[in-house]
Amino acid sequence: MERRHFLSGSALFAAQAQTQPQREYEAGGDGSTSYTVDTVVERPLQGRPHQGKVLAAIQPHCDDVPIFAGGTVLKLLAEGYTGVLITMSNDSMAGTGASIGEIVAANERDTREVARRLGLKEAIFLNYPNHNMDGWPILEMRARLVFLFRVLQVDTVLCYDPSALYERNPDHYVTARAVESACWMAASEWDYPEHFRAGLKPHGPRDRYYFARGPQLVNRVVDIAPYIDQKVFVNMANVTQGPAGNLGAELRRSLAAQGRKLPLLGDTDDDANRAYTKRFALARDQIRGRARGLAFAEYFHYVPPDESEVPAYVAQNSVPL
Ligand SMILES: [Zn+2]
Repeated sequence: MERRHFLSGSALFAAQAQTQPQREYEAGGDGSTSYTVDTVVERPLQGRPHQGKVLAAIQPHCDDVPIFAGGTVLKLLAEGYTGVLITMSNDSMAGTGASIGEIVAANERDTREVARRLGLKEAIFLNYPNHNMDGWPILEMRARLVFLFRVLQVDTVLCYDPSALYERNPDHYVTARAVESACWMAASEWDYPEHFRAGLKPHGPRDRYYFARGPQLVNRVVDIAPYIDQKVFVNMANVTQGPAGNLGAELRRSLAAQGRKLPLLGDTDDDANRAYTKRFALARDQIRGRARGLAFAEYFHYVPPDESEVPAYVAQNSVPL
C-alpha cells in the first residue's frame, strides 16, 4: 500500500506511464492474482498524441458518462481523439415529464446536448427498455456493438466496469458485459462473418476505461483538473434526470422563498447551477482527486491493449545463427 502511494505521486512514475502503458499479456489478463495493484496517474498530454484515434463513450443512461467519465472524454478529445456517444437504454423511466413519452423525448434531447458539449461527433441510441435490459438478449446487444465498433473503427471505449462489485442497476451491468465481450469479438476474424461480406474488417477497441459506482479495481487515475469546468457544463445538460441540471437554481429559488440564501450559489441561475454541480453533483471528483494529490480526478479500471511480448523480445535478444 505504501509503495503504491509513493509511486502514484512520483512524477517519474507518471512520466514512465505515459510512454510505457501497463501491459496485458495475450488473452491472459495481466497475470496478477491480487486486488492490490499499482495505480498510474494519467496526466494531461501535450499536443495531439491520439490524433486519428476513435473513442466510444458507452452508457446505459444519459447521465452515466457525464458523471463518471466526462472529464476523461474531454481530455482524450483534446489530445486528438474523435468520438461518439452510444446510449443503450431509451431512458424512459427516469426524469420529469407528464408522460413516459415526454420523458423519453426530453432525455434524448439532453443526451444530444451532452454529446455536443463533450465535443463528440454523434449521439447513437440503441433504444433498449430502461430498467429492463436484463430481460433482453445480451447476444443481440453484443452483435450491434460489434457492428458499430467495426463501422466506426473504434479504438477505445469508456463504459461501466463489467467486474465491479455491488452494482444494483441491471442496465449498468448488462451494458458493461455486452461491451466487454463485443470489444474482443469485434477484432475476431471468425465472429459475424457477414460483416466482412459487406466490406467491413475485423476491428475491436484495444483500450478500455471502465468506471464504477461501487468498489472496483482501480489502476488508472485521470487528472481532469483542466476540464472540470467543462465537465460541469456537460452535466448541466442533463436537466430531465441526473444529479446536476437545474438543481442549483431550484435550490436558490426555494431558499429565497424562505428568505435565505447560500453564498455558494451566487446571484444568477447559471451561477447556481454551476456551483451546485461542481460542489455537490461532482463532489466525488474532488474527493478522489485529493486522495491522489490532484484537484479533480476520475477513477478507472483501465485495460490496456492485449499484446504479445514476443516481437520486442526477439528484437532485443535474437542473434545471428
Ligand atoms: Zn445509469
